[in-house]
Amino acid sequence: ATSSGPYDTVVIGGGPGGYVAAIKSAQLGLRTACIEKRGSLGGTCLNVGCIPSKAMLNNSHLYHQAKHDMKARGIELSGIDLNLTQMMKAKDTSVTSLTKGVEGLFKKNKVDYIKGAASFTSSNHLSVDLLEGGQIEVEGKNIIIATGSEVTPFPGIEIDEDQIVTSTGALSLKEVPRKMVVIGGGIIGLEMGSVWSRLGSEVTVVEFLPYIGGPGLDEELGKQFQKTLVKQGIKFKTETKVISAEKVDGRVRIQLESAKGGNQETIETDVLLVSIGRRPYTSGLNLEKIGVELDNKGRIIIDDQYNTSAKGVRAIGDVTFGPMLAHKAEEEGIAVSEILATGHGHVNYGVVPSVIYTHPEVAWVGKTEQELKQAGVKYKVGKFPFLANSRAKTNQDTEGSVKFLAEAETDKILGVHIMGPNAGEMIGSAALAMEYGASSEDVARTCHAHPTLSEAFKEAAMAACGSPIHF
Ligand code: FAD
Ligand code: NAD
Repeated sequence: ATSSGPYDTVVIGGGPGGYVAAIKSAQLGLRTACIEKRGSLGGTCLNVGCIPSKAMLNNSHLYHQAKHDMKARGIELSGIDLNLTQMMKAKDTSVTSLTKGVEGLFKKNKVDYIKGAASFTSSNHLSVDLLEGGQIEVEGKNIIIATGSEVTPFPGIEIDEDQIVTSTGALSLKEVPRKMVVIGGGIIGLEMGSVWSRLGSEVTVVEFLPYIGGPGLDEELGKQFQKTLVKQGIKFKTETKVISAEKVDGRVRIQLESAKGGNQETIETDVLLVSIGRRPYTSGLNLEKIGVELDNKGRIIIDDQYNTSAKGVRAIGDVTFGPMLAHKAEEEGIAVSEILATGHGHVNYGVVPSVIYTHPEVAWVGKTEQELKQAGVKYKVGKFPFLANSRAKTNQDTEGSVKFLAEAETDKILGVHIMGPNAGEMIGSAALAMEYGASSEDVARTCHAHPTLSEAFKEAAMAACGSPIHF
């Protein structure tokens, strides 16, 4: 065939934004196609992001625990060895089963999956270079751009994905490096730094800012978190900038300087991970042709209905505004297709949770204390440490705490910040409560099962509107 369509909806990109938009659009009765050039569905998240990193985080944690945290629990183990090849295989198995799963969902929902790279020829026509060779034209009444993001390069540092790596290379190293240096103490730096530290690397994180964790982390929690990671053996050089990095005699030599200027230092490492952020990816789309405007960070400019400046062309996910998170892209995928089918669709950007999947996990939703102070909002704080939670104690896993921020006058929950075991699961309850406009007293008066970690969540809410019982 030399052409395909016309479709009601054509989605470019098969990541969490794009594949969810495509499935929802088809479920709502629109004739839908999704074009993906990678050769598998799931985008960054399933192929080289969320999923493989969580497989490595989970298995490196189990390995580390087996090696260092079993004796006191009465479990005597010996001869514990790392089989990195098998750990990588386990990761690849998780990835493949999920990407194939999305392909199955496309079939089930009758989404046409077109394998190839799309480029605009008009605002409702695309030219697609097929992976199998050849080219077709695809027509869509509505086209959704969900082409995601790519690693922000560090000027002058050349990536080889072997010794000088991005997260993609860091997810498939062939051996455990003796030393690893990470540029950027954001989410990727801390997650991948944790993986390799647990597997035996000496990890140093270089961060330009005075604090770690990337954008949005509550300052108090960030400080607590950094102390915890230092106890685990990760070294930090905050307020430090990288000047240059080059390969010298099989190692990587890095030139550092104090962020305030002055003090210079040279360090050497076996592997250097560059994780200073990601930037929107629009290469090859030919957006100039149809007049889609980008802002100064390369993000596609959209209105509150996801419309770009070209009629009939919309954009969602990492390629446009907002946090670069898979679940944010998915919510937008649903909203944009609902808008196409019904005229109405909505995402509550005030309640998008964030999770750092280290151990303990760090998770938050809503406003931070620094944001509330800056906005002049009067608020109450309720805190509860896992040290006082019965389940955390029985599990011998007590690091961290829960913090509720509620409006002083109305008691409405404005933000929840958690560091602790399973914080990533627990934050779902906070999001649910906030979505329903709950007060901290609403949570405090909700019966939570005993003994569970979530009692710490309830007791932090009790602390915000009165007093906790167990602390
Ligand atoms: P993407 O997932 O980037 O998908 C875009 C797709 O479009 C790609 O597959 C690309 O091949 C395709 N494409 C691009 N151009 C074209 C074209 N012209 N034609 C056809 N196809 C095209 N987020 C979380 O929420 N939780 C996590 O735990 C998490 N962990 C992460 C770990 C790592 C190491 C990384 C790098 C990211 C992580 N993220 C995580 C972020 C998450 O991966 C992204 O926010 C998410 O993938 C964005 O989805 P998207 O659909 O906008 O874009
Ligand atoms: P990030 O924005 O989270 O962190 C980048 C860090 O690098 C920041 O702390 C920044 O101050 C620092 N930095 C920037 N330039 C620097 C320089 N020149 N020298 C030293 N430090 C510098 O970005 P990331 O960690 O690369 O992650 C990219 C995106 O992927 C994020 O938007 C994140 O949302 C997403 N992601 C999410 C998860 C998750 O949800 N668990 C996991 C991984 C990635």
